[in-house]
Amino acid sequence: MTIGVLALQGDFREHMNMIRSLGVQVQLVRFPEEVALVNGLIIPGGESTTIGKLMVKYGLDKAIIERFTAGRLALYGTCAGMIVLARNIEGNESQPHLGLLDVTVRRNAFGRQKESSEEDLDVEGLDTPFHALFIRGPVIVRTGPSVKVLAKVAEGPVYVQQGMLLASSFHPELGRDTRVHQRFVRLSEQSLNQEV
Ligand code: GLN
Repeated sequence: MTIGVLALQGDFREHMNMIRSLGVQVQLVRFPEEVALVNGLIIPGGESTTIGKLMVKYGLDKAIIERFTAGRLALYGTCAGMIVLARNIEGNESQPHLGLLDVTVRRNAFGRQKESSEEDLDVEGLDTPFHALFIRGPVIVRTGPSVKVLAKVAEGPVYVQQGMLLASSFHPELGRDTRVHQRFVRLSEQSLNQEV
C-alpha cells in the first residue's frame, strides 16, 4: 500500500510527513509513470492554476484519470487540490482541472482573500470536532447527487466524498490531528482490491 503526493507545487511535504507518521509508505508523484505506483494520490494545497497547468504539461492528468477510472486509485484534494478535482470552477472554467468530482467550487470564497481562519468542524464519522485551518480556500456552491457532504460551514460544504474521491477546503496536513488522512488511507486500501 503506497500513498502518492502530487509534488508539482504547494505544500506536498506536509502531506508526505503526515502520511509517513501513520506508518504508510509515501511516493512523491511528478511524472505519469509514478501514478502507477500508488493506491491513493493526494493533490495538495497551493495554487490551483499552477498545479493544473503543470499536470497537463507533464501528462499527469491523463495518467490520473486513467488509473482512477479503472478503480485502482483513490484521490484526495485539499484546498487547491479540491479545485483541481472539481467538475466546475465558478468563473474560471478555462483553468485546467480534472473534472472528476461532481461539484462546483468558488475559489477564495472566505471573505477577504488574504485572511485565513480556523474552525472546529463537526465531521461525519468523527466523534469529536476536527480543528480545521482554512487558507484562501474554496467553498462548494453545488453538489451533484452522488456527492456526500462530510462537513460544512456557514458558507457551504467544505469536506465531501464521492466514491473514491475525497476533497476538503481546509488543510489537515498543517495540524496534528491525523484523522482526515487516516480516512483517506482507508479509502485507498479499497483500490488494492482492484489490483490484478
Ligand atoms: N486560493 C488558492 C487557489 O485558488 C488555493 C489556496 C490553497 O490551496 N491554500 O488555487
